[in-house]
Amino acid sequence: MTQETGGFAAFDLNPNILAAVIATGYEEPSAIQQQSIPIILAGHDMIGQAQTGTGKTAAFALPILNRIDPAKREPQALILAPTRELALQVATAFETYAKQMPSVNVVAVYGGAPMGPQLKAIRNGAQIVVATPGRLCDHLRRDEKVLATVNHLVLDEADEMLKLGFMDDLEVIFKALPATRQTVLFSATLPQSIRAIAERHLRDPQHVKIQTKTQTVTAIEQAHLLVHADQKTSAVLSLLEVEDFDALIMFVRTKQATLDLASALEAKGYKAAALNGDIAQNQRERVIDSLKDGRLDIVVATDVAARGLDVPRITHVFNVDMPYDPESYVHRIGRTGRAGREGRALLLVTPRERRMLQVIERVTGQKVAEVRLPDAQAVLDARIKKLTNSLAPLVADAESTHGDLLDRLTADIGCSPRALAAALLRKATNGQALTLAAIERERPLVPNSAPRERSERSGDRPDRGDRERRAPAPLAEGRARCRTALGARDGIAAKNLLGAILNEGGLAREAIGRIQVRDSFSLVELPEEGLEKLLAKLKDTRVAGKQLKLRRYRED
Ligand code: AMP
Repeated sequence: MTQETGGFAAFDLNPNILAAVIATGYEEPSAIQQQSIPIILAGHDMIGQAQTGTGKTAAFALPILNRIDPAKREPQALILAPTRELALQVATAFETYAKQMPSVNVVAVYGGAPMGPQLKAIRNGAQIVVATPGRLCDHLRRDEKVLATVNHLVLDEADEMLKLGFMDDLEVIFKALPATRQTVLFSATLPQSIRAIAERHLRDPQHVKIQTKTQTVTAIEQAHLLVHADQKTSAVLSLLEVEDFDALIMFVRTKQATLDLASALEAKGYKAAALNGDIAQNQRERVIDSLKDGRLDIVVATDVAARGLDVPRITHVFNVDMPYDPESYVHRIGRTGRAGREGRALLLVTPRERRMLQVIERVTGQKVAEVRLPDAQAVLDARIKKLTNSLAPLVADAESTHGDLLDRLTADIGCSPRALAAALLRKATNGQALTLAAIERERPLVPNSAPRERSERSGDRPDRGDRERRAPAPLAEGRARCRTALGARDGIAAKNLLGAILNEGGLAREAIGRIQVRDSFSLVELPEEGLEKLLAKLKDTRVAGKQLKLRRYRED
């Protein structure tokens, strides 16, 4: 075990849970996890003030998993979430952390999907129920005893639940649960309405709040870019084209992400390396030395591995994954702007993380301006500028050293000096795209299209004619398009496909791209990586009572 996993090992967690956490690549607990896990493990009620992005899901999922009895096949923990999307995410997180506990089952209960299978899964002994309040109340109306065995309740994003008008449903649910249960409440804010709930329904709760003292950040120019999680690598590659950097450090959350991103950068010709807690100390030092002396230009690191890193050459920090809290953001970007120099920090923000961005802005007292991905023209200009800079110093004495050779070659080949210079350029630039059209062809991302949060309505169907006429949109890099013969005429909506694939495929929401429902078929964008395995997993999945039969779809 590395010293970093010691962070999680210090909790009194079941070895199967610990092993699953280590397998996800988390190196150390986030602040909210550090404080909440021991409290929940000890069986106390708790109020946690934290928002998305702080690692709050694992902060309750790990200790709750630890507290249930996998041998008992009955609902033991209930997690309430405001939206179907969050319920699915939380359920997926539980499944990830329970990977090594085969007898633990998780069911997600939310509106918009048939009730029968949900109730069946609960009755079949799913120990963890993740639900939206409205749908859960529908179940309670059918069977008021359905929650009688639940002895752990988590309210996730409690303030959002109240905003969505779930107050009455919550009261119904509280009544249906044993009074002796443990109750944990997470909320980004603690307005009076939440305090009142805590007062009535929690017993002697302990409070956990991540302290956010105001931080000062100077001499560092900060910006953020909105991007979907699965487009981060392409976004990073586009940004690198136009950012004028000397050395750069990129922060990601997991060890695997350090390796994946570093190899994607190397494949594009950057001198990049990964830095994570699995890398032996002497090797880490070698990486840092190489960054110092220019043998490396980019290091992709986790927070743990980059601790104390002080390299004056670093002009840029890319926060590819969001930090857990503002302190860690300030700490990360402090890797640049060393010794009074200027630095630049870029933060990639996925739609769900916008709130975290606001917290960072509040705590640092600074606005983090939005930037867009560079368009093809900006990339072209940057490439030509680099070429100009590399050739300009060579021009001065080239004629005296190679002028005669040029004359001889043009004579031998029978071409003009312009033709020969062009051929040499082609060779020197090694197939690099240097026209607008060529750059547009190679770019998988559409610049200046900030992603919006994909809502439940994103699957709404356009009218029939439109649905049949539209050609499939271009695919993002790393995505494969899959087809099912189920379509609108089978009563399918995008949300049914999404729910089924998330539930049965065990994917993160971000992993699924566009879903297009046509009349007699539907197209779904899925990650290319691991596609065959995923399709095998979905082999027996049924949607609206019919077999999904998802297959890879080729346009040609
Ligand atoms: P949450 O705030 O629960 O929505 O979590 C945000 C993201 O952080 C999720 O993608 C988690 O998988 C990830 N995460 C949570 N805890 C850790 C950790 N200790 N180390 C690395 N990543 C984590």
